[in-house]
Amino acid sequence: MDLSEKKQMLVAIEQKIAKCQKCPLFNSRNNIVPGEGSPIAEIMFIGEAPGLQEDKVGRPFCGPAGKFLDQLLDSISLSRADVFIANTLKCRPPDNRDPLPEEKSACREYLEEQIAVIDPKIVVTLGRHSTETYLPGLGGISKLRAKLYCRPRRGPLDGPSGIYFFPLYHPAAALHNGSMRQTLLDDFAKLPAAIEKVKKENEKYHKEEKTIKQEKLF
Ligand code: URA
Repeated sequence: MDLSEKKQMLVAIEQKIAKCQKCPLFNSRNNIVPGEGSPIAEIMFIGEAPGLQEDKVGRPFCGPAGKFLDQLLDSISLSRADVFIANTLKCRPPDNRDPLPEEKSACREYLEEQIAVIDPKIVVTLGRHSTETYLPGLGGISKLRAKLYCRPRRGPLDGPSGIYFFPLYHPAAALHNGSMRQTLLDDFAKLPAAIEKVKKENEKYHKEEKTIKQEKLF
């Protein structure tokens, strides 16, 4: 899929989200928050759900947690333009309550489609909600954080190679906790090495795939 096809497909997903009535949150939202960033991002971040600011402007992470996310990106020489940022929910839950399981499952199809189009090297789940959604049953975020996990692909890019996840604490958790702030900075510093590892794993997979194809030729 080339860049312009990816752009078109991401717009088509946004149009579907704008019409979505699969859960009651469409009633109370001011704006959908589909996510934004590079259609060819190597890293895709998935937070929890839009808050007050995000609902006002229709963009993810534009409050205080977003400012810290910008600093975390900057700490590994990246900016928002290099990555894609989304949430488990595309609409704000009233009073910023936790997303309900039925809201997360109703909304999941959009996120899966975005992941399939962008095809990032790594999906960074930010916090408990997004980590539980993608890596259910493996344990809490403090056990899973800053480690690489692989899950088989879903959707149009289905295939034997996996999709890689790297859970991290949610940036909002660090806003009033200095030691958590440092933990997040330290965990972020491990991201570039994790991406290199994924690239090597993907290369191995493609080499093996070529071997299989050649074997079939003879
Ligand atoms: N917290 C989130 O999880 N997502 C946002 O977009 C903003 C704050």
